[in-house]
Amino acid sequence: MGEVMPAVFFGHGNPMNAIQSNAYTEGWRRLGQSIPRPKAILAISAHWYGPETAVSGSLFPETLHDFYGFPRELFEVTWPAPGSPELAERVQQLLKPIDVRFDAYRGLDHGTWAVLCHVFPNADIPVVQLSIDERQPPEFHYETGRFLQSLRDEGVLIVGSGNVVHNLQVYVWGNKAVQPFDWANRFESAIRTLILEGKDRELAGYKSLGEDAWLSVPSPDHFLPLLYVLGLRLDNEQVSFPVEGIEGGALSMLSVRIG
Ligand code: ZN
Repeated sequence: MGEVMPAVFFGHGNPMNAIQSNAYTEGWRRLGQSIPRPKAILAISAHWYGPETAVSGSLFPETLHDFYGFPRELFEVTWPAPGSPELAERVQQLLKPIDVRFDAYRGLDHGTWAVLCHVFPNADIPVVQLSIDERQPPEFHYETGRFLQSLRDEGVLIVGSGNVVHNLQVYVWGNKAVQPFDWANRFESAIRTLILEGKDRELAGYKSLGEDAWLSVPSPDHFLPLLYVLGLRLDNEQVSFPVEGIEGGALSMLSVRIG
């Protein structure tokens, strides 16, 4: 048996990160250099969130520009990593009896490519995406991560992409340095503590953190990818936070590395 691959949650933040070079993108690049080269990548992104669990099986997934109001140069970026129908089928198999739809046409959303273009700039590792079923409770997403654990022994890097704190209602756009809101700081640090203590049940029950949770996670889509990654953690496995920071007051860029 080879090495066990790490699993990583990325705080992706503003899509502009795709074409910028900053402390976050530098951190992502370093992370890519610090892990063994994966055979393939399975990504769970906040931006594939709908009423089912599906897996992308395209051989040549297109780069989706699933945002608006950004400069043309961002719409011109392509990150042409291949797909892997084989990995997509393996995921379907591992998640039985969950009925995972094979989507032969789905491309890569910006939660995936805007980060991975820094982590793996050569775009030469196959990438498959798994969608997040919006109908399911947080525990379901955590358990789904657990079912995927064996992929780590098969050379597959599993990444979650979202944001621990993601409130665009109050997010301050632009490059101004803005102090984080108190509730954002408190929620992020509560989540870090729970992660370090291995309190996965409490993490899946994040809503019980009250008003800070409600403000930090106004909708679950950007938080849930973290639960998949936490579900991949083996007993007493090392965890670290290779990238951190809160952008625009209300967007946590925290990355969480397992293994
Ligand atoms: Zn996003």
